[in-house]
Amino acid sequence: MMAPTSETKTGASQAARPILPGATLGMLGSGQLGRMFAQAAARLGYFVHVFSPDAGSPTSQVARQETIADYDDTEAVAKFAQSVDVVSFEFENVSAAATETIAKYVPVRPSGRVLHITQDRLREKRFLQSAGIPCTPFAEITSGEELSAAVDAIGTPAVLKTTAWGYDGKGQAKINTAADAPTAWQSLDGQPVVYEGWVDYQQEFSVLVTRSTIGEIAICGPIANEHANHILDLSVYPAPELAGAASEAGQIARTIVEQLDVVGIICVEFFLTTDNRLLVNEIAPRPHNSGHLTIEACRTSQFEQQVRAICGLPLGESTAHCPAAMANLLGDLWQSGEPNWQAALTDPHVHLHLYGKAEARPGRKMGHLTVLADTAEEAVRRAIRARDRLAVAGQ
Ligand code: AMP
Repeated sequence: MMAPTSETKTGASQAARPILPGATLGMLGSGQLGRMFAQAAARLGYFVHVFSPDAGSPTSQVARQETIADYDDTEAVAKFAQSVDVVSFEFENVSAAATETIAKYVPVRPSGRVLHITQDRLREKRFLQSAGIPCTPFAEITSGEELSAAVDAIGTPAVLKTTAWGYDGKGQAKINTAADAPTAWQSLDGQPVVYEGWVDYQQEFSVLVTRSTIGEIAICGPIANEHANHILDLSVYPAPELAGAASEAGQIARTIVEQLDVVGIICVEFFLTTDNRLLVNEIAPRPHNSGHLTIEACRTSQFEQQVRAICGLPLGESTAHCPAAMANLLGDLWQSGEPNWQAALTDPHVHLHLYGKAEARPGRKMGHLTVLADTAEEAVRRAIRARDRLAVAGQ
């Protein structure tokens, strides 16, 4: 059993002894991001202990040890913390109480402070503003007066986003004209929201940035992203049309990890506007769906970088060795039965990832396909064709 440590600060400003292969890494959350983290950790000789309220999860199928308990079960969280050498997480909706409990025993990487800022849209936008980083125009809305003031100041179209617990477009309501604003807010139950100006963008993209315990930084991106129904559909890297944005986006991502004192990996999501400006949309304090293609396309995947960073190992080279495209596989593909895996895999350049989720619901991320090719266009074409083949009858 490990005694409580005196470590209160877990950022890179505190030099730390590396956590070496053979150690046990704690993972809060048990979805596909935890699963791919555990796969990368196992390859490097680490063990993973996963903590989440869900049984039979994607991560527990590949981790050595599992605790099934609520994140606010302080006793279970403390016991978990004492069984591991470091804790990271795979989604941001972990309570401050849980991370504080863990930090009494072992480092939480990224720290509870990073989680606190990034799990609330308003805090995140205020942080970006204070760091001088361009983001979408926004206003906090807690009353009808603030709502009409925001309509006047920022204009329409716009989007209301709940400050907490939003993902994949959930907790959002579009406002097309000033007259829509009150109804849109009511559709979100009058919760505290952020009013965000609608961005006229030519491309959405993301940058993954990893920072180690000694402040070493590795950047991967820009990765071009296409969404369908607010859910990521396709990612492409390297994206030739974003070459001109790479240097500025990388600098912004670097500033964010340094200012937040991140140890771990974060994903910065951007809009490239039609008038060629970069705006940060949001920050995810963990690996990201758009980075799944790094497993095959990059010299070091986003999950291996997360392992290396939280363990205090030197980071890997994160550039791509070949163009790649990733297509998400949502539960909708199961509507008329099991997808035709053989048909998709007839292209030998297709890599299939399935997350081991028992139930396929519409909109649920069940897996993804990554294709490596000589050009980005070719990778996209083959990824889409492979996904289309999943619907071909005749298994
Ligand atoms: P989010 O949950 O904030 O990442 O939003 C999900 C998706 O909705 C984004 O990836 C965009 O495609 C779209 N979106 C969100 N906010 C805006 C905005 N202010 N302007 C234009 N599109 C947006």
